Amino acid sequence: MMAEVYIGLGSNLENPAEQIRRARVVIAKQANISEINFSSLYSSPPMGPQDQPDYVNAVMSVGTDLFAIDILKVLQKIESDFGRVRKGQRWGARILDLDLLLYADQQINLPDLIVPHIGLSERAFVMYPLAEIAPGNLLVPGKKTIKQLLTNCSLDGLEKLA
Ligand code: ATP
Ligand code: CA
Ligand code: CA
Repeated sequence: MMAEVYIGLGSNLENPAEQIRRARVVIAKQANISEINFSSLYSSPPMGPQDQPDYVNAVMSVGTDLFAIDILKVLQKIESDFGRVRKGQRWGARILDLDLLLYADQQINLPDLIVPHIGLSERAFVMYPLAEIAPGNLLVPGKKTIKQLLTNCSLDGLEKLA
């Protein structure tokens, strides 16, 4: 069974735009994962601690026959391959952050995996790139359609990169 999955990509260290482009390629060439679509790149001021560089974000849709928990493992392996080191501070600077935003129409509540991703509907840097590549009538399980959620989501300094 092929599931359509949305992945959020973010970086704010060591040429973030380049990290995002590289991560896209690495994700797309994983066994059992194939790229469907990829958004523009966006920049935004950091969430949480302000003493860190701006972020670059994008959203990617893929088709996969992996279970959600196995996609998370793949994404976490890629993060560490890119040299991400987990420091104590929540929302601190990172070279690569890969979040599993949506997994088909599933709602998942496991200790290490919550889908739809926490904060998805409030975060401009997720919603705007997501809306660029997802059908407006796509339902975020437990919530509303992408189009409805977007009307309540202010830009918060988000800018599309050239
Ligand atoms: P946020 O999750 O608020 O965007 P973050 O991305 O900085 O913050 P991380 O340190 O990357 O947070 O991840 C913290 C934990 O979130 C991970 O250990 C992972 O198990 C868990 N997690 C739960 N649901 C998801 C999901 N849908 N995608 C990615 N990680 C998730
Ligand atoms: Ca995140
Ligand atoms: Ca994360």
